[in-house]
Amino acid sequence: MTAPAEARRCTTCGRFRAYRDGDQHCIVCGSASLQAACDCGRPYDYVLGEPPQGALHCPRCGRDFRAAEADWTFR
Ligand SMILES: [Zn+2]
Ligand SMILES: [Zn+2]
Repeated sequence: MTAPAEARRCTTCGRFRAYRDGDQHCIVCGSASLQAACDCGRPYDYVLGEPPQGALHCPRCGRDFRAAEADWTFR
């Protein structure tokens, strides 16, 4: 059994990816600046079920993640 993937967001490049326990560095840019939850405290678990294109907002605080990240791709 492997640990379930957890969505985290890199605060340097802004990209969401699936990570596992112990992961510390962004897959895309290598920065150790991963966040598992929004600034409001809402975990990013909902991100993994979302399509790679289209709008994406925090369901709790309404933050627009796409606005700051025009070329967002999840996979
Ligand atoms: Zn990054
Ligand atoms: Zn939020």
